Amino acid sequence: MQLKFLIFTLLFCNHLTYAQDEIPRNYFESPLEIPLLLSGTFGELRSNHFHAGMDIKTNGVTGLAVSASAKGYVGRIKIQHGGYGKALYVYHPNGYQSVYAHLDNFSPKIEALVRKAQYKKESYEIELFPSALELKVKQGEVIGYSGNSGSSGGPHLHFEIRDFKSKPMNPFLFGFDEVKDSRKPQIFALHAYSLGPDSHVNGSTDRLQLKLIQRQDGNYRTEPIKAFGTIGFGIDAYDILDLTYNKNGVYSVVTKLNGKPVFETTFDKFSFYESRYINRLIDFEYYATEKRRIQKLFLEPNNPLSLYKDVYNNGTVTIQKDNLDQSFEILVSDFMGNTRSILIPLTTDFDENLIQKEIKETEYFAKANSASVFEEGKIDIYIPKNALYEDIFLDIDIEGLSVKLHEPTTPLHKSMTIGFDVSQYSLEDQDKLYIASVTSWGSKYYVSTYKKKDRLTTKVNEFGTYQLFEDNKAPTITPKNFRDKQWVSNFRFLKLEIDDEDTGIESYRATVNGEFILMEYDYKTKTLTYDFNDGKISDTKNELKVVVTDKVGNTAIFEAEFLRKN
Ligand SMILES: [Zn+2]
Repeated sequence: MQLKFLIFTLLFCNHLTYAQDEIPRNYFESPLEIPLLLSGTFGELRSNHFHAGMDIKTNGVTGLAVSASAKGYVGRIKIQHGGYGKALYVYHPNGYQSVYAHLDNFSPKIEALVRKAQYKKESYEIELFPSALELKVKQGEVIGYSGNSGSSGGPHLHFEIRDFKSKPMNPFLFGFDEVKDSRKPQIFALHAYSLGPDSHVNGSTDRLQLKLIQRQDGNYRTEPIKAFGTIGFGIDAYDILDLTYNKNGVYSVVTKLNGKPVFETTFDKFSFYESRYINRLIDFEYYATEKRRIQKLFLEPNNPLSLYKDVYNNGTVTIQKDNLDQSFEILVSDFMGNTRSILIPLTTDFDENLIQKEIKETEYFAKANSASVFEEGKIDIYIPKNALYEDIFLDIDIEGLSVKLHEPTTPLHKSMTIGFDVSQYSLEDQDKLYIASVTSWGSKYYVSTYKKKDRLTTKVNEFGTYQLFEDNKAPTITPKNFRDKQWVSNFRFLKLEIDDEDTGIESYRATVNGEFILMEYDYKTKTLTYDFNDGKISDTKNELKVVVTDKVGNTAIFEAEFLRKN
């Protein structure tokens, strides 16, 4: 019995280690027939997340055939307005999954299955988990067509490979050798950080950009820097592949102190739950103000990212009064191994007269490792444990039903809850109230508002100004390619524009002659589209009715007649 158990354990573990350690080379092939050119690489630094796959260029158009990268079955289909838009997940017999996102549409067989489910649920957004037998696919079999759906910023195919634990992995680990990269990464800027209470670099106790001097071989050096105490470095770098111009992420960064490795970050694999820690990896304050990302090459508390390797002394350098001259080196590489280096000579320079940046103390002190509650007037704020990366004095200014809640330059890892007491409003007026984020330039954006008697709450993961507003305006609905009582026999699509000024579209529903019809909503173009190819219209004379509701429940109704020979 015990032996049996042992054998079972061994077999089972073997299987796991196989999937984890022996990455199958060239098991996956490119899902497109055109040459493989990328506009985005794995691990690239994006807003609040690391890029989980590679973005494949589609010649600037939609509608290119997308095929299964390896054999398996379509085990998940997800359609959403934002995010990945129309996405397919293929499950492979070796435990890996491949993901194809921002699609325009699917192969006829998948399309039929999806339509049926959408009509059953009466919803465009849907998620399906077909069984292993339903949608088997061969390698190279067309499963869909490339598009620009969801939160895509232009036509491309987002392609991902996930391991058996659903962790996204760098596709280059599997091959895709046809992607050529013969150039070294580019360094846009190098910054030094004074990290200790008495640290300084070249007379500065703050972040300091260092001037880069290019050498004959393309690598960089800096002038010797005069520093004291614990310091660290950060780089703003990117990589350009051959035959493209897109600025992609770099693959790995290694640093060395006097020739000895002290820090490494490498983008091979991560977990989705780690992704928001990107705000700890980058200099978030710099990003919030300059819109450029500096990757910090040192570790601070509350950074559990699994991307770091061989970290010594948290990647920092400590320079003491009696230190001899030292050298720090940064090696920035792309996946193909092209490496650009920066050499930083370090000399000791102690200056006790330098004044540290003063910490502004307020009455609102929040600790990173415990929850905080603040209440004043009609507003209350709850910041959960581990929402902050560091203990901090918050700057909070409450005026009536508006709160200036600290600065957007401080990152929040988890959502805080802001509550507004609205008991001064009648119940009828309360229905039209919502919470908006107000930018420094005065624009306001609806944030998800929850209502419970006399109280409105929102959960937001950015500091800033939040204020109560009222929305009494119904959405607008405008036909885009037809007018009332028009013959549309030769039309493939009916298109309408829907919009809502204040809070945005919460829901939409279209019917023809009282029966639900499926309309696709693209929030980027504000367009609702009906496709006559779904075969639901068989009458000559048809009454179209479209009902659109905003986030506080203001509703607009559009009605028109269209005629069609069948
Ligand atoms: Zn992508």
